[in-house]
Amino acid sequence: MGLSTDRIVNNQASTLEHLLCSICHEILWHPVTCGTCEHSFCETCLNQWFQHQKRCPNTCEYQQRARVPHLLTQLLSQLKVTCKNTINGCTEIILYEALEKHEETCPYEIKKCQGCLKSILKQNADQYELQCEHVEIFCINCQATYRRRDTHNAIVCLRNQMKNQNDLFELKLTSLENELKRQTELLINIDQQQKALIGHLDKQSRLAEGK
Ligand SMILES: [Zn+2]
Ligand SMILES: [Zn+2]
Ligand SMILES: [Zn+2]
Ligand SMILES: [Zn+2]
Ligand SMILES: [Zn+2]
Repeated sequence: MGLSTDRIVNNQASTLEHLLCSICHEILWHPVTCGTCEHSFCETCLNQWFQHQKRCPNTCEYQQRARVPHLLTQLLSQLKVTCKNTINGCTEIILYEALEKHEETCPYEIKKCQGCLKSILKQNADQYELQCEHVEIFCINCQATYRRRDTHNAIVCLRNQMKNQNDLFELKLTSLENELKRQTELLINIDQQQKALIGHLDKQSRLAEGK
């Protein structure tokens, strides 16, 4: 998709006409040019087009031009554009080429609060999330995650810590028990091997005596 012509501030209809993508009829955005007919399109528009069509939208054999025509790049770079977050209060007017960078960091971008998922301005987000009761907090003392509105006083925290210790202790105990079981089995095994060996030796000496 291209940029809506409404967003161009230094609007000269006669120039804009040459800067339109013939697929979306908006101002070219990340343009690519057909080397055969020299028409330009937004890259995303053309990619979508080729999902259903084989030929250039201008019906010719599409071959991508190595570079977009210089004049086109120049005309585009002279455009002054309003930010996409104008409706949220951003008053910036940005040059076409700097637009993408601005919009990536625009403080008037809307984001969702991590806690309650309400839409808020990015520039207020830190402050807002510091107060939101639904934001999850991680306690380094007891390793628990809780919501800010939940009670996490010293008693709750200590109880968690004790439970963690207990779990750890149980875990160690289980592993010790397993180790003990393994050792016992090993001993039984050795014992059986020894008995078998003695039995075998006895048999041999009896055979020798029998001769
Ligand atoms: Zn387009
Ligand atoms: Zn073409
Ligand atoms: Zn902005
Ligand atoms: Zn919130
Ligand atoms: Zn805690």
